[in-house]
Amino acid sequence: MSGRGRGRGRFYKELYGGRGRGGRGGRGGDQGGYTDEDPGPSNGAGGAAKGVQGSVQDLQRALREREGRPYPAYHDVEGAWSFPEFLFVLDRAQSDPYAAPSRCRVQVAAEMAGLPAALWGTRVRRIATCDFLTRAFGAAIASAGADARAQAGGWHGEKGGEMTVDMPGQHVLERTSVVINDQGTVEARFTVALPARGRSILGQWAAQILCQNLPRYVHAGLLHASLDAHALAAHVACVQDTQALRDALPGLGLIAFVGDGAILPRRSGASDAPMPAKEAVPFASPESLAVKVELPNAGRVRGMGVRAGVTLIVGGGFHGKSTLLDALQAGVYNKVLGDGRERVATIASAVKVRAEDGRRVEACDISPFISNLPMGRNTHAFRTDDASGSTSQAAGIQEALELGAAALLLDEDTCATNFMIRDARMQALVAKDKEPITPFIARIRALAAQCTSAVIVMGGSGDYFGVADTVVCMDSFRARDVTAEAHAIDARFGPSPALDDGGGAPYGAVRQRVPVSILPGGPNERVKVHVRQVGLITYGEQQLDLSALAQLAEVSQTRAIAEALLLLRQWISGCNGSAQRWTLAQLLDRLDGAMDEQGLDALTPGVKHGGLARPRRFDIGAALNRLRSLHMEQS
Ligand code: ADP
Ligand code: MG
Repeated sequence: MSGRGRGRGRFYKELYGGRGRGGRGGRGGDQGGYTDEDPGPSNGAGGAAKGVQGSVQDLQRALREREGRPYPAYHDVEGAWSFPEFLFVLDRAQSDPYAAPSRCRVQVAAEMAGLPAALWGTRVRRIATCDFLTRAFGAAIASAGADARAQAGGWHGEKGGEMTVDMPGQHVLERTSVVINDQGTVEARFTVALPARGRSILGQWAAQILCQNLPRYVHAGLLHASLDAHALAAHVACVQDTQALRDALPGLGLIAFVGDGAILPRRSGASDAPMPAKEAVPFASPESLAVKVELPNAGRVRGMGVRAGVTLIVGGGFHGKSTLLDALQAGVYNKVLGDGRERVATIASAVKVRAEDGRRVEACDISPFISNLPMGRNTHAFRTDDASGSTSQAAGIQEALELGAAALLLDEDTCATNFMIRDARMQALVAKDKEPITPFIARIRALAAQCTSAVIVMGGSGDYFGVADTVVCMDSFRARDVTAEAHAIDARFGPSPALDDGGGAPYGAVRQRVPVSILPGGPNERVKVHVRQVGLITYGEQQLDLSALAQLAEVSQTRAIAEALLLLRQWISGCNGSAQRWTLAQLLDRLDGAMDEQGLDALTPGVKHGGLARPRRFDIGAALNRLRSLHMEQS
């Protein structure tokens, strides 16, 4: 999605084309989908690499023969089976009816899938097509009711049977649920809870699911001939356009774009779906901020350009300020057609930052904002297991900059007030030498001078008028350009007194940090990771709370971060004591490089995980920054 397409084709070919597709069993998922628990044994089965076990009739016979046998006998059917339209692979059968469900794949050869090469010839189009196929395959399963778990008659009753695809939300992300290789072979990954009565195999039922039902879902969801070709083409064109819009931003001097007609509000605080059109006020750009961009499919579109520099979003309460910022923070991702935000794009390196008291901070230089802490605490390499609102926000900004953020997004609703502003009365009462904080307002021009932009929602204080390049007022959900008025008011009232607080010095480069040790760190020490919901990872004994990461959109991304932590743990432990030590930014570069080259399978060596979506480097970095067992030092 970042447009880094170097050598992709070749890497896909090496990955899938040349050397078979052998996946060794490993981590499974939990009931009804994927998580990262239950690293299980592997039988080494993996489709073409191992050779095909037999035909669909052979699989059917094998399952029926095991009717009533102890549950572990399901392991016998692990491996690849050739069906008329595809190859079915049971990578790992679950060991127990209550364990994480069994991991499966189907591979549909290019001629059978029949996808025109134009749909998967470029990186962005391939991601969009895989996304569409995931939804179509998942819908085929759901419409048959095959995703529902059967559970009758208690422990001795029949249970299991459900088939699960990792279904996407509003975002179109690189994912592992469906992948297409360079030859056009389509691989879909899913789980099946192999059915049981008590702990005995229900082989007849399993044969029904895998040998009779599965072919219907594959036929309906993965073959181009069965799909709505028009909808597929429109989906792919839409995603390509959003990406093209994002790619065009730097050349236009913009960090974001909000198209006319966009529906920014969501259905509810609990739903990412768009607000129904009859209730929502569509976005319209003020003439003075309007920009026109030429897109490959939609042609010329008009919208509001958010220019590099400092942009302030003001307006009365409940007038749509946060909704606009939320759309900008989600603008780093492409959306499905009909989302309402298809023409909203933000540069990929935009990072939402907020206060997060109680979080952990490790060796972070927060001195641009905080100095003279009580008891002489070091703010050049600040460490705490329990940050305050202001110190957590300062750390969040420094960590984002360390990883290359070019735009910071802040909302007064989630900022620490004392970090943002300080007024004349407070200055008069609390002497400067008793106040450790240089507020963000005093530093923002120095950041802008270093090409770090900021978009700030601020309805409660006019102090930022004087430091803003652009001021947008949301008025009953309509945007107005009030820059001239705001600057005139600022001239009348004079600059904010906080600007005297010694913030004028150049901001300087943020110090890079080197992870030096991580616990548990030994190569033989196993760490289990587990993900149940967006933003919550169990890493060994730790609960890693990522709920403050507003741009972490999906549980599948959270799972990918959990897998990334396991990989990074090995890299960090391996680096420890050796001549070369990697900085945090370098580790994430390396991880991004591996994902660019090998896809997300790079995160799970030897395992074809079907429940991962690509996370942003900032969110992986944020997970490391919050991991209490990671020790870092400044380089
Ligand atoms: P603010 O941050 O200015 O206080 P919000 O952005 O939180 O306001 O929006 C307040 C409410 O208005 C939310 O419930 C939101 O869903 C709704 N809303 C926002 N933008 C629109 C719009 N364009 N059309 C209709 N309702 C909107
Ligand atoms: Mg708000």
